[in-house]
Amino acid sequence: MLRTKEEYFEKLKEMKPNIYIGDEKVGRDDPRLRPGINVLSITFDLAQDPKYKKLATAKSTITNGVVNRWAHLPQDPYDLMEKQKLIRMGARRAGGCIQRCMGHDAISALSICTREIDDAKGTDYHKRFLDYMKVYQENDLVGCCAQTDSKGDRVKRPSDQADPDAYVHIVEKREDGIVVSGFKMSVTQAPYADEIFVIPTRAMMENDEDYAVAFAVPGDWEGVKLVTRPVWHRQKDDKDAPPICLTGISDSVVIFDNVFVPNERVFMAGEWEFGRRLAMLFADSHRHSYSGCKPAVSDILCGTTVLAAEANNIVKVSHVREKLTQFAGAAELAFSAGVAAAVFGKKTESGTFFPNTIYANVGRKLMGELIYHEFNLLTEVAGGIAATLPFKESFTMDELKEHMERFIVRNPNIPPELSLKIWNLVEIMSTSAMTAELLVGGVHGGGSPIMEAIALSLEYDFKTRVNVAKYLGGMSKRMDDDVDLKTEPWMKLRFDKDEK
Ligand SMILES: Cc1cc2nc3c(=O)[nH]c(=O)nc-3n(C[C@H](O)[C@H](O)[C@H](O)COP(=O)(O)OP(=O)(O)OC[C@H]3O[C@@H](n4cnc5c(N)ncnc54)[C@H](O)[C@@H]3O)c2cc1C
Repeated sequence: MLRTKEEYFEKLKEMKPNIYIGDEKVGRDDPRLRPGINVLSITFDLAQDPKYKKLATAKSTITNGVVNRWAHLPQDPYDLMEKQKLIRMGARRAGGCIQRCMGHDAISALSICTREIDDAKGTDYHKRFLDYMKVYQENDLVGCCAQTDSKGDRVKRPSDQADPDAYVHIVEKREDGIVVSGFKMSVTQAPYADEIFVIPTRAMMENDEDYAVAFAVPGDWEGVKLVTRPVWHRQKDDKDAPPICLTGISDSVVIFDNVFVPNERVFMAGEWEFGRRLAMLFADSHRHSYSGCKPAVSDILCGTTVLAAEANNIVKVSHVREKLTQFAGAAELAFSAGVAAAVFGKKTESGTFFPNTIYANVGRKLMGELIYHEFNLLTEVAGGIAATLPFKESFTMDELKEHMERFIVRNPNIPPELSLKIWNLVEIMSTSAMTAELLVGGVHGGGSPIMEAIALSLEYDFKTRVNVAKYLGGMSKRMDDDVDLKTEPWMKLRFDKDEK
């Protein structure tokens, strides 16, 4: 079934109010959650739109029916590229973050890891997961992913924390399920997700066994509380607000207070050896998703910078033209890394196709490093008005109107009304609460930058590089004796073709 945005919202309204904004307990119809719901609505609209249906839907290998691509487990490189394209397109419409990728990356990771645990331990997590997925796909559900634990003292392992709730953990194992407690944090879209996926955030040791836990519960499940911070491009009033002001996001602390999770929703319960694997599967899949959304953020910043340059009448000035090419470099290099991650990805035992982790990580790393720089490019070109623009009411007040209309014009070819719209967009993009969300999320979303460096230092084939250098430096006779080209992902495709 493909839901409409109206059906999605109707179901949200029926959920129990377990959301806290400040000191208020609210339902899912609270207007401060609406901007985030509007973003998720884009994902339903695209799947209904004849023009985009092919991109936004897929044929499920579980139900054999047509499902929303966000609920689909990728089966080949094409599926991964379609996901990446869909994210870039959706994120442009959302003005930054399309949000539904979190659930997609969680189901990909769980589909792979449950199969691997079963193969190693003889458990039945994968079958449970596929049964769960059937319902998830048939009902076109929205899932968020609660991976980040509150973590307490950063240098202590989960089981060494003074407060055991610093990491979500199993407090009781029962015949029919498990009972869990603990805090997850920074969880995007939780108040308007049907389901919350919980997965580990880090590698575990044997005595962290109770912390190696993965499951899914409805967002309003008994014992779950969402302490939410909604963020959007606030305008003084929403009347005549530009489309970017209608979208937003929310991030939540998710409190699990002795929550019972029935067996059919439990996908890992104590298999500590797989904690790292599941954490990395989600992180790497999510880093691939960033190769879709971060280029979209560059697209939005680039377009806004061009408009600011035009309003300042400096668009033809050489330093501005050079700055604009930097957006192209950032967006398209990261997007290319995502395409390479899809093309050089691999089919796992579960059948789910997984992106190449080197390319997924380098693309994400590049965008994380450049995010503050890209916002800086906009600020440099725009000038200080982004932070000092008077409120829009001053431009219509009888007493001020005439002066303000002259004040706002810089390029004589751009009339006052258009000029004001441009500077309003610049203000929204460079000094709003959403700006901070995009900046900090651009650095930490999908894991802190050091996590990408760790992934690369573990997985990148440094030995091959040393062998190349040894050959060139006369320390070994033939490069090919030392270098197994099959380990290079960019050679692999060619070898696969030759081997057929
Ligand atoms: C906008 C936004 C949206 C997000 N959405 C989600 C979401 O939907 N779901 C989700 O699960 N998470 C989400 N996150 C969380 C994100 O994944 C984390 O912020 C990220 O993994 C970093 O974790 P942290 O914030 O706890 O920072 P920390 O891990 O505390 O990092 C802070 C610093 O401490 C260092 N550090 C941490 N531990 C150690 C250690 N043991 N030894 C040495 N140095 C250490 C880090 O390298 C870093 O420099 C979101 C974050 C943001 C900003």
